[in-house]
Amino acid sequence: MKKDTILAHAGRDPQRYQGMVNTPVFRTSTVIFPDLESYEARGGDDYKKVRYGLLGTPTTFALEEAVARMEGGHAAVALPSGLAAITAALCAFVKAGDHLLVPDSVYVPTRTFCNDALRKMGVETEYYDPLIGAGVERLLRPNTRAVFCEAPGSLTFEMQDIPAIAGAAHARGIPVLADNTWGTPYWFRSFERGVDVSIHAATKYISGHSDVMMGLIVTNERHWLAVRKTVAEYGYAVSPDDCYLALRGFRTLGVRMRQQMHNALRVARWLRSRPEVMRVIYPALEDDPGHAIWKRDFEGAASLFSFVMRPAAERQVAAFVNALELFGIGSSWGGYESLITVAHVEKYRTATRWNPGGPTIRLHIGLEDPDDLIADLERGFAQAQKAR
Ligand SMILES: *Cc1c(COP(=O)(O)O)cnc(C)c1O
Repeated sequence: MKKDTILAHAGRDPQRYQGMVNTPVFRTSTVIFPDLESYEARGGDDYKKVRYGLLGTPTTFALEEAVARMEGGHAAVALPSGLAAITAALCAFVKAGDHLLVPDSVYVPTRTFCNDALRKMGVETEYYDPLIGAGVERLLRPNTRAVFCEAPGSLTFEMQDIPAIAGAAHARGIPVLADNTWGTPYWFRSFERGVDVSIHAATKYISGHSDVMMGLIVTNERHWLAVRKTVAEYGYAVSPDDCYLALRGFRTLGVRMRQQMHNALRVARWLRSRPEVMRVIYPALEDDPGHAIWKRDFEGAASLFSFVMRPAAERQVAAFVNALELFGIGSSWGGYESLITVAHVEKYRTATRWNPGGPTIRLHIGLEDPDDLIADLERGFAQAQKAR
């Protein structure tokens, strides 16, 4: 089956639910068993059995199955946020005395978790240059238990060579975990590129409508039980209503991703032509340093990218952002609407430097008409000029 057919059909079975097209919302804590024998046999490693609300209902399983199938993984588990998915996945692999490799461009809350919670547990995190590729081999130690990746970095968009990193890690039997929120299960086939455990902030494109907090971990067969058991041990459960909403959004992931990529390219190319802009950082652009790897490994691009403004006073940056009417100022991305943030990344780097020569501004391009978005940005630049 092709990708768009999987999106429309995976994770549902109308005849099981009186012909209903969508798997209904099942709410429960308790599941009642017909006799003591079946109750006592409920456990084990089959996490697709309905046995207790904490471990999921048919609504949860429908979403998990659809996402795992789309990405080509063995199975998936839903968690209450993208960050919970990252931290639970890491905890499935590391223990006191272990060493963990994380790219310097990583999502900042992932870095905070490594520096605080993992450090307290006795895990040493080493940050590496996201462009290291096969050179990661030099950083592997006998106690390295996982290599974490994120391609591209979600503020600065360095494109990682995941197949090269995975080649080096796998040669030593070390699993590769990747935050694939930008790639999505639609544009990046993680498991064909060497990822063992793929992590998503489903809050973003998967749910797609800025109304759900959720994470998903998709794994290959080898690492499934370790990850699933860790999630169960931490006691994470996800509301069936949220799973229903996320799966409803997921059904249209393909059309949204294609249209948002088209819109993002229009806006990115326009920005590149503007005198106020030094550089647009978007691997889907032909002259981006990450373009070749993106083209080799991804089937498309998310609509999230950054640009570097020519050196401007802080009040000019604020005038630009505040003048925009269609771009919301706020965290998150992956919804149907456009967003803007100013990325202050310099202070988080330890293995590399981020010094692009001007303010870094991140845009999320939504489903609006790109001509209207361009007109909005033009208005912003005019206000920035006035604020000189
Ligand atoms: C938003 C985000 C997360 C965390 O997702 P939440 O659901 O907000 O916890 C993780 N990784 C990346 C790259 C993100 O952008």
